[in-house]
This record gives sequence, C-alpha cells and structure tokens, in this order.
Amino acid sequence: MDFELNEEQKLMQDMARRFARETIAPISEKDEEEHKFRPELVRQMGELGFFGCLIPEEYGGNGAGEVASVVITEEIACVSPSYGLPFNMQAHGTAKTILRYGNEEQKKKYIPGLASAEKFGCFAITEPGAGSDVVSMLTTAVEDGDHFVLNGQKTWISNAHVADIGLVYAMTDKSRRHKGMSCFIVDLKETDGITTRPIETKLGLYSAPTGEIFFEDARVPKENLLGEVNHGFKICMSMLDNTRLSCAARAVGVGRASFEVAKEYAEDRKQFGKPIIKFPQIRDDLAEMYLENQAARLLLWRAAQQKDNDPNVRNSLEVSVAKYFAAEAAVKAANDCVKILGSYGFSTEYRASRLLRDAKSFQIVEGTSNIQKLVIGNNILGK
Ligand SMILES: Cc1cc2nc3c(=O)[nH]c(=O)nc-3n(C[C@H](O)[C@H](O)[C@H](O)COP(=O)(O)OP(=O)(O)OC[C@H]3O[C@@H](n4cnc5c(N)ncnc54)[C@H](O)[C@@H]3O)c2cc1C
Repeated sequence: MDFELNEEQKLMQDMARRFARETIAPISEKDEEEHKFRPELVRQMGELGFFGCLIPEEYGGNGAGEVASVVITEEIACVSPSYGLPFNMQAHGTAKTILRYGNEEQKKKYIPGLASAEKFGCFAITEPGAGSDVVSMLTTAVEDGDHFVLNGQKTWISNAHVADIGLVYAMTDKSRRHKGMSCFIVDLKETDGITTRPIETKLGLYSAPTGEIFFEDARVPKENLLGEVNHGFKICMSMLDNTRLSCAARAVGVGRASFEVAKEYAEDRKQFGKPIIKFPQIRDDLAEMYLENQAARLLLWRAAQQKDNDPNVRNSLEVSVAKYFAAEAAVKAANDCVKILGSYGFSTEYRASRLLRDAKSFQIVEGTSNIQKLVIGNNILGK
C-alpha cells in the first residue's frame, strides 16, 4: 500500500493547516477558556469543502475521499481538538450514513446542507443508562399513522443544542433487542416535543457543544426513517466504523501537537546549565511520542485508504486498531507533554494541560478503548 499523499490531498492538507493556524489558533485558547463555540468557523470549514470529502459532487461534496478527510481533520485537531469534532457531525456520522442508507429523496434533502455546514448535524445513540451497551437504550419509536412517535432521552450528544438535523436511534421493537432498533433523520428544530440542554460540566473540549436531547411525543414522519424499520443497529455499527476513523484522526492531531509543544519547551527550558532537551530521559520521552504518533498515523491512513478503495467496506478491525492505538498514544503523549513542562504543564495558561484534558475524550467517544479491544478480539479470535 502506498502511503504518499497525492497532489489533491497535499493541497487540502495545506489549506487545512493554514486555516487552523491563521483562523482558529489566534482565538482558540481564549475561546476554550470562555467555553465559546463559534458556528461561523464551522460554516467556513464547510465552505472550504472540509466536510465534502466523503460526498460525491451530485450531493454537494467534492469526493476527495477518506484519506483527504482524515488528513484535514488531523490538521484542525492539532490546533483545536474542539473544531475536529464537526467532521463527525457533518460528514462521517451523518452525511455519509445518509449516503449509504438513505433513499434518493433523503440524500437530496439532507446531504448538501450537512456537507456545506449550512445545517449542523448530530447523531444520538447514548442515553443516561445506555453507553457501551447501545441495545439497552430506552428511547422508543412507536408507529402512529404516517408518523413514528419518539419518547426518551439522549445524553452526551455532540452538537445537541446547535444541531438542525439528528440521526436518532430508537427502539421500534424492544423485545428483539439489536434487531428491534431503528434510525431516524430528525429535523430537531422543526419538530414539536423536542427540547435540548447543554452539558457544561466537561473536563475539556470547551469550544465543542455537548448536550442532552429530550423527546416527548415527538412526531417524526415515516419518510424520515433511515433504511428499513428494525435495521438501526446495523446502521449504527456501520456509522461507528466511520466516526471512529475520524476520532482516530483527531487523536493523531493531538499526539502531534503534544510532541510539538513538548519539543519546543524542552529546547527552550534550561536546567543544570543546559536545555532540558539534552537530557536522555527527555529525549527518550520525545522519541516515544514521535514514533507512536507516526505509527498511529500509518494505521489511520491504512484504514482510510481501505475505505477509499471501497466506500462501503466494513473494515471494523483496522478502524478499531487505528482508533484504539491513536487514542492511547494521544493520551500518553499529552501526559508526557505535561510532565516535560513541569509546573508549567500543570498550569492552565499553557496548552499542555488542555491537550491532556481533550485527549481523554478519545478513550471514551465512539466506543471506549475497552470496546475497541472487544471489537479487535472478536475479529481476530472469533466471538
Ligand atoms: C465529549 C463527548 C462527546 C460525545 N458525543 C457523543 C455523540 O455525539 N453521540 C452519542 O451518541 N454519544 C456521544 N458520547 C457518548 C459516548 O459515546 C459514550 O460516553 C461512550 O460510548 C461510553 O459510554 P458510557 O460513558 O456510558 O460508559 P459505559 O458504557 O458505562 O462504560 C463505563 C466503563 O466500563 C467499560 N465497559 C463497558 N462495557 C464493557 C465491556 N463489555 N467490557 C469491558 N469494559 C466495558 C468502559 O470501557 C468504561 O471504562 C460522547 C461522550 C463524550 C465524553
């Protein structure tokens, strides 16, 4: 497999790097402190085509592909993990899932707005009592004439209170467990019976909105069922294969940022009469951060390349390997970055502590690290 980026991918990487450094970096630290989200930044990213890589031109995308998408995501997340999240909300989790499972009408109606970020998206699986065990969800969707009526509560949903369009998972036949779940495209702001509430008590990712969604007799037209009734679990698992990849890209970005921040500080900081980068233990830490970041990127690109070769491939094994490794490497790198900065690493005035707080999310979202190992084990050892 060839891991050289082609000219188009390099151009998009360059464009994303410039956007991250020139537009996001100058406001990012202060915004994070103030827990401020800027919708206009996401719209700008949409205009630049960042969310259109997985989408063909006929639905408003640019078809640049999965490798292009993860390369762009890494650049953005390297500067701001918070603004790495919209790749899942606009593309990997939403538009790509509608592209894969939607009918023509749904594709035409929803994908262009998500790809351009004129409309914000989200996907809602998690509930207060249902995290890793998604089938234990309590939200129900009951047929009533030409509608489904949704009741229940979703929590820890990225974009919950800013999203226009949500892919909402609900049980249509609880007794059939994973064969009784369905997925709905919900116009969150136009449907009666839907309320949202932000979650403000987060460890990090302060510029990325997270919240709860409540459904109280919310009537969703039958034409908004995605795929077939009771096929939601399959859609959910295939969606997670895509969102995990994007999460791995964010983790690679944070791993790189941790290395860069630590290296720059170690070159500058002097103790015992010389820069601390001269000390073997510091060099050892930096070498490990670098090598694990390189390895994570290769695993990420391999899984993305497989998807470019066949957009409907279910490469759960390679995706989970990339997601697990990139997440663990990012947390380790950010932790070592804090260590290398000493007391300045413990200060919220320096980037190191934010990198560590944000990196922790990668071990949780889109399936925890334990769940990735479960997927890997099931794939290589049999269930
Ligand atoms: C910042 C952020 C953004 C998020 N965005 C979204 C979103 O947009 N949409 C959405 O639907 N959800 C979202 N989530 C929720 C996230 O997907 C869940 O938190 C995650 O799936 C884990 O679920 P849980 O927190 O309930 O943990 P639990 O499932 O309760 O797990 C608790 C612990 O038990 C372990 N565990 C559980 N089951 C097993 C097992 N079988 N074997 C071994 N260990 C196990 C886990 O690894 C973990 O360590 C988000 C979460 C965060 C933090």
